[in-house]
Amino acid sequence: MKDLAEVLNDWEAVIGLEIHTELTTLKTKMFCSCPIEHGAEPNTHTCPVCLGMPGALPVPNKAAIESIVLAGLATNCEIEKHSMFYRKNYMYPDMAKNFQTTQGPVAFCMRGHLTLEVDGPGVEERHGIDDLSEGDTMENIVKTDYGYAAKVGITRIHMEEDAGKMIHVGGVDGRIAGADHSLVDYNRAGTPLIELVTEPDLRTPAEARLFMQELRSTLLTLGISDCSMESGSMRCDGNVSLRPRGSKTLGTKTELKNMNSFKNLHDGLAYEICRQAEVLESGGVIRQETRHYEPATKRTITMRVKETADDYRLFPEPDLAPYDLSDEFIESVRKKLPELPRQKKQRFMEDYGLTRDDSITISNDVELSEFLDKAMEIDSSLATQVSNTLINEVMAYLNQNNVTLGETKITPEGVVELCKLIDNDTISSKQGKTVFQEMVETGGAPSKIVEDKGMKQVSDTGLIEDVVKRIIDANPDKVEAYKNGKKGLSGFFIGQVMREMKGQANPKVVNKIVTDELEK
Ligand SMILES: [Zn+2]
Repeated sequence: MKDLAEVLNDWEAVIGLEIHTELTTLKTKMFCSCPIEHGAEPNTHTCPVCLGMPGALPVPNKAAIESIVLAGLATNCEIEKHSMFYRKNYMYPDMAKNFQTTQGPVAFCMRGHLTLEVDGPGVEERHGIDDLSEGDTMENIVKTDYGYAAKVGITRIHMEEDAGKMIHVGGVDGRIAGADHSLVDYNRAGTPLIELVTEPDLRTPAEARLFMQELRSTLLTLGISDCSMESGSMRCDGNVSLRPRGSKTLGTKTELKNMNSFKNLHDGLAYEICRQAEVLESGGVIRQETRHYEPATKRTITMRVKETADDYRLFPEPDLAPYDLSDEFIESVRKKLPELPRQKKQRFMEDYGLTRDDSITISNDVELSEFLDKAMEIDSSLATQVSNTLINEVMAYLNQNNVTLGETKITPEGVVELCKLIDNDTISSKQGKTVFQEMVETGGAPSKIVEDKGMKQVSDTGLIEDVVKRIIDANPDKVEAYKNGKKGLSGFFIGQVMREMKGQANPKVVNKIVTDELEK
């Protein structure tokens, strides 16, 4: 099979995404007052409404409507004042009502967009970028200094409810094939979900991944979901079709499921694009079907041949009145909009002078952004040092230990103090790493740790000079080689000095004295 770059030379991929997000931060379900709780004893959070008992009537959750309007405003959607719910009919044991309550073509949020900033290796996946100069436009993209910006349309964000959870027992990997019986847990039935549908504006797997990342950090900032791709509270399906470069006709698309990480989303789409190219180039046709991505084998396999909207017999939900959102309601939600990641990124660059890359990394994380802002209130002159510590030390620690910042003993005061100690040469940056470790474990103040461990950095030139001279005298052959042109040997002398001084010498001072002495 050809690789992605080769395929994209001849073919244009047309990709659209459908992203489901559970509103996990709400207290109760969409149409009843059952609590939403992950990991609760199966079938303990149910009632006649979410079990579909005859005569039970749904009552919409106002907080859920607020959440979807918030999501719409944050993604530049127009808020549709008049919309309604429909019944999407199907029979499956995880849906006790035999229909899912969902919205039709007119949803609460319509016609939005997100602008993606594509940089790094992702730029190479977009065909024709190399031929553009900064500021040039092509379709929905603009060439920029970092790569390109792509405006991706959002068709709508609609509200629906989740089904229960099926557990297949006895099969391989919990799959239904080969199972001898199945269990149903209705705790999840009726959990509010929002589904975002994009326009088919995406052209590469890298753009699809970036869209998902941008949306996830936006929804996390809104605080309406924990957006866990791992546990499934945020799920992404992709539609992909190919057409020969230059053609405007859409090819037959397949729908991809089970892309439950950013990497799987990228790799699944990349595989599917290459697979379709191979089928088309050998004279075959693409079947409209749903395919399942298998991360272990990095392949997609047929799941089912696509059903159409007609099969579901969507019809208006008679138990729920059509919605009529007031201007006051929409404005009250707009007032709750927090600063969004893309706005934070811009502010970090302008106010703190951070690089674009660092600003993106920190602004995509709600906790790190708040932490940075607090640290900057304490001392804004150390912005770069604090941001480096956040990215190199703090994030690494959080990832390694799988904890959140709030669960650690790391404080803005501590990090600012640590940066100050390194900045004024009290300790070396290497010693800084040791102090950081100690700080994380004990929660102690960096200056106290430095004092207790006797870690102060030696910048006394007289003391360092003595050591340098001793080492130079002990290695006449290396001095000779240095003078004959092997300048790289200065590193040997610096290393020896640092070792002798147990890493406590100021590297800048050592460097200068070693060079001065060798050049004598
Ligand atoms: Zn219920």
